[in-house]
Amino acid sequence: MEYEVVIGLETHVEQNTATKMFCGCKNEFGAAPNTCCCEVCMALPGALPVVNEKAIFNIVKAGLATNCKINQTFAFDRKNYFYPDCPKAYQITQLYVPICVNGHVDLEENGNPFSIRIHQIHMEEDAAKLIHNQLTGESMVDFNRCGVPLMEIVTEPDFRNVNQVMTYLEYIKETFKAIGISDCKMERGQLRCDVNISLRPQGSKEFGERTEMKNLNSFKAIERAIKYEVERQKDIYASGEKVHRETLRWDDEAGENYPMRSKEEAMDYRYFPEPDLLPLHITDEELEQIKSEMPLLPEARKEKYKGYGLTDYDAQQLSKEKYIYTFFDESIAAGISPKEASNWIQGEIAKIVNEEMAEVPEIRLNAKDFVELLALYKAGTITQGSAREVLRKMWGSNDSPKSLVEKLGLAAVSDDSAIREVLQKIFDANPQAVADYKAGNKKTVAFFVGQTMKATQGKANAAVVNKLLAEMLQ
Ligand code: ADP
Ligand code: MG
Ligand code: ZN
Repeated sequence: MEYEVVIGLETHVEQNTATKMFCGCKNEFGAAPNTCCCEVCMALPGALPVVNEKAIFNIVKAGLATNCKINQTFAFDRKNYFYPDCPKAYQITQLYVPICVNGHVDLEENGNPFSIRIHQIHMEEDAAKLIHNQLTGESMVDFNRCGVPLMEIVTEPDFRNVNQVMTYLEYIKETFKAIGISDCKMERGQLRCDVNISLRPQGSKEFGERTEMKNLNSFKAIERAIKYEVERQKDIYASGEKVHRETLRWDDEAGENYPMRSKEEAMDYRYFPEPDLLPLHITDEELEQIKSEMPLLPEARKEKYKGYGLTDYDAQQLSKEKYIYTFFDESIAAGISPKEASNWIQGEIAKIVNEEMAEVPEIRLNAKDFVELLALYKAGTITQGSAREVLRKMWGSNDSPKSLVEKLGLAAVSDDSAIREVLQKIFDANPQAVADYKAGNKKTVAFFVGQTMKATQGKANAAVVNKLLAEMLQ
């Protein structure tokens, strides 16, 4: 029997707001344990939540970026459960009226368009972090993460294969970074995913029973976990058994999953409207303000760059990261062609950025200076090799390209007589190459240019060398 794979995702995204969801504590990754917490974070008696407006507006932005309808009036609900990382013994979330509903994202996988409907995006708050010491058997709790603003994006079961899932997650990551609401670092748990999977006979209209897999904390793990679970379910059907509704935990090291809880053990969270918070209303003016703050989304940016005559690949590479497209935009505003800016940014500049291996990568150049440097190169004042050298010297410094060219003595030799002299010496020393050239062997051109560059430490103007070469050996 041929089966069709059906997948729905619940993705948690940790926001990058300065402070937490319901108090003024810092939302900071990596701070010393229990240094970013207060009576609200720890649920001391009488402590009351105050809503972080920025975090709410961020969820609206997420909704706008995924074509959702925004519920301008919404409320908060209590989800009750006991666990040592949840001092209130409930989480404030949204069950009945989430902020964003009925969205969709339109994507492409290997040239095939597909669309994923977004069921909703709602607010959640993160739990504290438990640290289990295997050696001593002690468990410790760090409340710094308790109350960090989260949002959960719930899709409809619209994915039909693992590649679509990866494309969607990549899109969410790039988009949320672009609109500035999260850093989306999976290794820090800022983007986490629960995957719901079922199979149905090819052509069937009804969905099969599904399982939900948790604890997926990297793109690689998600991919492996989905492939594993699809095979597991196929095997179950092949042996004539039924798939049971259950929650599974993925063990990435072992490369397999195991049951966490079955349907019978499903929790009853006893949701009810949060009595400590009134419903909120976002005014039309506020909504307009948020819309006006939305930057160009990566897809739209890519289209814009393709309109400059760039290839699909170049356009995509340039629209990926903010530090890259900002520099690209500034460079072309300062007067160089998109193609030229693209080549340098993806060439020498990307090389330097990679070498730096900075936690937050950046292009430490002034776009105006960069454009000025390229002007020197195009005018033949310096060679391409020298332009690369000066670029490296300009990195993170305030020196202008002109002053660096002077300081480093890199001005190209364009003077006809000087180059003529160099060429003559090379001809004299290599009569065979001269004869080959005259016999029509074009490979000798590269040899002569190379020798000239060597003799001038790379400072000869290549255009002038070529011109004189042709002239002198005619
Ligand atoms: P619950 O109410 O149990 O949380 P939902 O209907 O809200 O379940 O769905 C939770 C997630 O499971 C959603 O992402 C949804 O797309 C996905 N889902 C629902 N049914 C299926 C199915 N048959 N196969 C795969 N995923 C599914
Ligand atoms: Mg959920
Ligand atoms: Zn606090």
